[in-house]
Amino acid sequence: MKKQTIGATGAIILFLAVILCSCAKAEPQSVSFQSMDTLMTMKVYGGDSDLCDRLQQRITELDTQLDATDENSEIHQLNQKGTAKVSDDTADILERSLRLSGELGQAFDITVYPAVKAWGFTSGDYRIPDDNELKELAAKIDDTAVKSENNTFTLPDGAMLDLGAVAKGYAADQCGAILKESHAAAAVLNLGGTIKLYGKKPDGSRFSVGVADPDNPAGYFGYLSCEGGVVATSGGYERYFERDGKRYIHILDPTTAKPVENGIRSVTILCDNGTAADALSTALFVMGLDKATAYYQAHPDFDFIILTDNDNLYITEGITDDFTLSNGYDFTIKSVEIAATQTDTSR
Ligand code: ADP
Ligand code: MG
Repeated sequence: MKKQTIGATGAIILFLAVILCSCAKAEPQSVSFQSMDTLMTMKVYGGDSDLCDRLQQRITELDTQLDATDENSEIHQLNQKGTAKVSDDTADILERSLRLSGELGQAFDITVYPAVKAWGFTSGDYRIPDDNELKELAAKIDDTAVKSENNTFTLPDGAMLDLGAVAKGYAADQCGAILKESHAAAAVLNLGGTIKLYGKKPDGSRFSVGVADPDNPAGYFGYLSCEGGVVATSGGYERYFERDGKRYIHILDPTTAKPVENGIRSVTILCDNGTAADALSTALFVMGLDKATAYYQAHPDFDFIILTDNDNLYITEGITDDFTLSNGYDFTIKSVEIAATQTDTSR
């Protein structure tokens, strides 16, 4: 009789423990912090209890190594000395960026730093360099001349690196590896507009990502529903200054060293790989609509949403049905098809 009573109590305790445990699992961990010059917000379901701390630590560590404006960073040291041996992390992001740069042609170049600095985007002391200075700056932008051997990188004369266009995407990939290692069930990591979507949400629903309105970046002109991957957006609204009614944005055309002015307001990329998503969002912005479309048709392993000045919204066919325009936005949606004859999936 006594034995039976203990058994019943044990069963109740076990039952309560299971309920408590499943409640704990359904409740996400979350954290917000400032890193890579932006606000980051993370929500993680399941996995180890210190998972958010680990993700934050990893991003902070990358920021410390990669920030060209931080005198203690490896990138700053390399920019000062022209040649330096760097850590495995820094070597990895540099190698990946140089590979992507080779694929993206002249639209993307990680040696834009002297030009970004000359316009004042690193300090906030904005200025407009004159034509001679711009010619000199453009002549120094050439990451095909960066040499590397066993983690030692050598820059061409006068060149300096800027990983601003890829660091958040690379951080998203690094966080993905940590989430996998610690068996997280799902996560939404918003790394300042570069959003990593991981696993399956507890209620089984798809992720829904807001696409920032360039005229009111706190609002969203639409929502993209997707199952995972990284969503990265580049827009002139992120950092810019105005002189005499004209806007100068922080995305530069490497061939001219000037801020891009080509009728594009924002480019959003969905891609499994975060580093590629981030590089593509910057590069397709620089390419402009026609070249961006041709690039996609030749390498259709990602999707894009491009908003132009005339309120047209170009969306690749793979995600046209997954996009919903917010109420009050009168954009004309145009689906961009993959031209089968031009398909090249070698990337
Ligand atoms: P954000 O960092 O605001 O999300 P991007 O990913 O587009 O936006 O990165 C823009 C940053 O990348 C700039 O601030 C600058 O540091 C750097 N950059 C600007 N133009 C280029 C370019 N053509 N290629 C590579 N990097 C660039
Ligand atoms: Mg980018």
